[in-house]
Amino acid sequence: MINTNCIFCKIAEGEIPSKTIYEDEKFRVILDLGPATKGHALILPKQHYANIFEIPEKEVGEAFILAKKIAGIIKEKLNCDGFNIIQNNEKTAGQTVFHFHIHLIPRYFDDGQKINWQSQDVMQEELEEVKAQIIN
Ligand code: AMP
Ligand code: ZN
Repeated sequence: MINTNCIFCKIAEGEIPSKTIYEDEKFRVILDLGPATKGHALILPKQHYANIFEIPEKEVGEAFILAKKIAGIIKEKLNCDGFNIIQNNEKTAGQTVFHFHIHLIPRYFDDGQKINWQSQDVMQEELEEVKAQIIN
């Protein structure tokens, strides 16, 4: 399904031009318009799914296999020193475009970017409680 109000649907379908670095029947991979680093790319399924909870297993599997493939190509061509793969879901987690996408972010020594979180101190009991909540 295509969502007519969704900018990534329009980009994925080629209705809005983009810097496409890969395309097949199911996916388009574009350069991010506001890149974190040189080569920052986005994997877009051509079908509209808002997030990880909506996209079917088969499609998300294919998207991550493609992420590995394109990350390898970017690493080889741009000679980056590292790589972050990021996928945001919902506003609270930083999602701003509500069409599933995977960020491919090449990292360079001294690129000045911070893609990180603050580690918190936690008691063993708390971890036990969380574990019980998830598995029970
Ligand atoms: P997220 O915050 O995970 O939803 O990521 C959305 C990403 O899409 C951001 O990194 C934006 O820079 C990028 N973006 C938004 N509009 C466009 C566009 N028209 N073409 C390319 N990238 C875009
Ligand atoms: Zn869409």
